[in-house]
Amino acid sequence: MKWLILLALLVAVTALIALRYRRQIKMAIYVWQMFRKMKQVGKTGEKRIEKPADAKDIALVRCAKCGTWIPQNKALNLRSANSYCSTICLETVAKVG
Ligand SMILES: [Zn+2]
Repeated sequence: MKWLILLALLVAVTALIALRYRRQIKMAIYVWQMFRKMKQVGKTGEKRIEKPADAKDIALVRCAKCGTWIPQNKALNLRSANSYCSTICLETVAKVG
């Protein structure tokens, strides 16, 4: 009979612990989901800021040979301050000069 009482106590204790952990697990999942949402919002926010910033930062320069407007990071520069849209323009100027 003593064993049965001990068994019943054990079941009761484990049930109580399980209930306690359920709350903690629920809280942990809730907090984890909150962090996940916050991270996703942060990522999309960064992307939204990055795209227009890049477009604004790149200045346009004019090709000294053909007059085409090209982004400064794609322009080719000779010794002089002149910028060129491609190697073709750069070479023709170099040949003439
Ligand atoms: Zn050109």
